[in-house]
Amino acid sequence: MVLAENRVPFGAICVPEEDFENNKSQVWFIATQLRYYLARITIAPFEVKINDDQNGIYVKLDASLKTDEFSIKTKDGSIYITGGKRGVIYGGYEFLERLGCRFFTPDCEKIPTLTTLKIDELDIVEKPTFEFRDTDYSSIKRFSKFATMCRINGRWNDIPEMLGGSIRYALGAHSFAVLVPHKEYRDTHPEYFSFYNGRRQSVENDHWQLCLTNPELIDIVVENARKILKENPDRKILSISQNDNPYSCQCENCLKSDAEEGSPVGTLIKFVNRVAEILEPEFPDVTFDILAYHYTRPASKKTQTRHNVCVRLCASCTCFAHPFDKCDDRSRAQKRPDGKATLFIEDLMDWSRVCERLYVWDYTSNFPLYPMPFPNWRVLKPNLQTMAKYNVKGVFEEANCAYYGGVDFNELRTYLISKLLWNPDCDIDAHRKEFMEYFYGAAAEYLDEYLNMLCDFVEKENYHMYIQDTKRPDYLSDELLAKYNELFDKAQNAVAGDGVRLMRVERARLSIRFADIFWNEVLSGNYDAQKINQFFTDLRAHNISRIDEWSNIERTYRAWMDGKERGIVYTIPWRYDAESIL
Ligand SMILES: [Zn+2]
Ligand SMILES: [Zn+2]
Repeated sequence: MVLAENRVPFGAICVPEEDFENNKSQVWFIATQLRYYLARITIAPFEVKINDDQNGIYVKLDASLKTDEFSIKTKDGSIYITGGKRGVIYGGYEFLERLGCRFFTPDCEKIPTLTTLKIDELDIVEKPTFEFRDTDYSSIKRFSKFATMCRINGRWNDIPEMLGGSIRYALGAHSFAVLVPHKEYRDTHPEYFSFYNGRRQSVENDHWQLCLTNPELIDIVVENARKILKENPDRKILSISQNDNPYSCQCENCLKSDAEEGSPVGTLIKFVNRVAEILEPEFPDVTFDILAYHYTRPASKKTQTRHNVCVRLCASCTCFAHPFDKCDDRSRAQKRPDGKATLFIEDLMDWSRVCERLYVWDYTSNFPLYPMPFPNWRVLKPNLQTMAKYNVKGVFEEANCAYYGGVDFNELRTYLISKLLWNPDCDIDAHRKEFMEYFYGAAAEYLDEYLNMLCDFVEKENYHMYIQDTKRPDYLSDELLAKYNELFDKAQNAVAGDGVRLMRVERARLSIRFADIFWNEVLSGNYDAQKINQFFTDLRAHNISRIDEWSNIERTYRAWMDGKERGIVYTIPWRYDAESIL
């Protein structure tokens, strides 16, 4: 059917009366977005009106569809876009994508311009594979509208209700530190904290966990959890999860419990089940979350989660060069109390059998070396397909979270990951091709060759790649860097007359400049200050605010100029630097 011809629209965009000019309405929001983008395509003055009996694009909520679901149908010369509160918005953007629009990044949209705009008959209903879809890439965190366009609904962007809202946690992760403040109890009740290396972890700078078999802790956690839930009545998940360190309690009672359960997570589940049971009458719609992370990653053999306790299984100590179910590296498998060790995929399979509401915390970057090329491109799709197969309900893809983004094709990563979180079976190669050809223009073929060379290497050499490794990877040898540089020269030449795309290629090239400078200059003890200066000037010109997870670029710069590896002591556990929030 024809939607517009020679700047004349076929009809109006029609909304129910209660949504018209209602700035709290998701229907009003997407109706005005349709008006804006349809006008950009056709220059036709589409109007938004209250429902009438003329042909038009009818947009409304549909209570029979779940929050994120939508339907688009054509019938008798009209179009009907309906859905849940987020779904109706997703449906509107889906409709625009079917007309040829692409929303690649917050500032890079491909919008066709047409004299005649047509669309085939449509009758589709869509729902997401995962109920919770999250990532903390910069553009998702900073731009709510873009997050909604990408159908991200997680906790890293407080998406306004008008844009569909998001699923937020009352406490996010590593929440022991909030629920039982170390400062408050370490002097009076050292027995609340983990027994490790022959003593309770009660000294100021200790990295601590809780002694979960101490019955007095239940009341403290219940009281603090209650307070937080009352203060945040719109948040329906509260995490009761370990701090970010491996020093779990080794007291006699805890070790006995861990052994009986087959995993320290059983001790944690017993504790959180009790808290969840006490708070359930008061907060019947709240779920209590635990992290299955490092020592709590393997599933319990005995105690299982209550119906109001959910699990976020973290893909820690996992290779990202190969899909979860294809990697043969057992060298960093997670040890259990009985001495056996399990891979992430084995833990995932175990959890899928015992947990009703299983989320996964996945990783997509090297965290101590943010700019380093991270050739995980070919595992993104199979890993999300594996999660779907094992009944995972939600996924957080942790990323380079630098405020203004990173350099290792972060824009492409955000786009592809968003598509896969909605549908892990989507045609990811087609999405990647469209993105590359528009975002990088004539440089796309050389950059594609570069990305494929990286992935070919790790596949062919069976190179295993972890998210905390700082040793120089084999795929970044001087010989290979020279080849990548040749490709970047060609890419830059190809877009020499296109300033915007040239800037994007130069930004991507910072990855291999980083590899050269970090391993050949900074760590060699014999560096060229001018080369490092130029690198930092260019990083700042591209708005890069940090190149590792823990310190800002100012500190990294000073450290490098002083001949040090990084701007903050790199330890386990990670200590964040409060001043470097950017
Ligand atoms: Zn203990
Ligand atoms: Zn591997």
